[in-house]
Amino acid sequence: MKFLKKYAAPLLMLAVFETVAVVLWLLMDNIFYLFNFTYIGGCIALGLTLYARQYKHARLVVQFGVGLYMLLYLGLMSGENMQIEGFWYYLFSGVFEAATIHYAVAKIFGPLLFGRGWCGYACWTAMVLDLLPYKRPRSPRKKFGYIRYITFILSLLFVGALFLFHVPGLERVMFLSFIIGNILYYAAGIGLAVWLKDNRAFCKYVCPVTVFLKPASYYARIRVTVNQDKCVSCGKCRKVCPMEVDMTDNSRKRTNGTECILCMACVDSCPKKALKL
Ligand code: SF4
Ligand code: SF4
Ligand code: SF4
Repeated sequence: MKFLKKYAAPLLMLAVFETVAVVLWLLMDNIFYLFNFTYIGGCIALGLTLYARQYKHARLVVQFGVGLYMLLYLGLMSGENMQIEGFWYYLFSGVFEAATIHYAVAKIFGPLLFGRGWCGYACWTAMVLDLLPYKRPRSPRKKFGYIRYITFILSLLFVGALFLFHVPGLERVMFLSFIIGNILYYAAGIGLAVWLKDNRAFCKYVCPVTVFLKPASYYARIRVTVNQDKCVSCGKCRKVCPMEVDMTDNSRKRTNGTECILCMACVDSCPKKALKL
């Protein structure tokens, strides 16, 4: 019983991802989905197990395990554009596979269950940004959030134009756009982090994927909540949050509530053990 309680989260995640793996394998008649979601679920379960065993870098292990797989294997070696442009590309092509499935699971419907878990445990942009020295923002939050809508519309217009003007060799163009897009993301992400002294500045202001992630994660089932009876308002949790979430407020409308990446820094920092997932 004790074992089950301690490892409930990794077992649950493994079960969820294995279910998705089997369902998609059978539905799409493609064994790749079995391998893909088993691998990702395995990485997440491993990270949660390490976390339960209090290993300090558990989250980084998952981030690199999933992030490198998606960037190097799916993106560069298999030529799948898993960025938002790839999502539009498959959507406009009328094909429900690769990036469309990835977006449906990780970024559109999945966040109804696990919020911005993608951002905390799998994103290959953030896996690099999280290595930078500004783990907690050192300057007040800026009112730059509107930029995400501009990048979102630009990505949509870019892919729309490729179809509208019947650009030849679309697969090659999408592969090149994956490489160039990632270079731009890393350059902008690192530049903003250094400029604003905030590792996650790109996530807060620029990333177009948050246009999908934020509304869905508002309704997330898995979220950090506080036990008000235990909380002594010491403020330690808010100091360590990379996303400036007010986790001491249980309301869904709490400040920056849709920014939580489930990193658990606040939960670990609370001296009264007042926070939990
Ligand atoms: S906000 Fe964008 S860049 Fe940041 S972790 Fe999420 S998907 Fe990645
Ligand atoms: S510190 Fe807490 S509230 Fe902030 S992102 Fe991490 S888990 Fe979410
Ligand atoms: S660290 Fe714990 S006790 Fe302190 S304000 Fe946060 S939830 Fe309350």
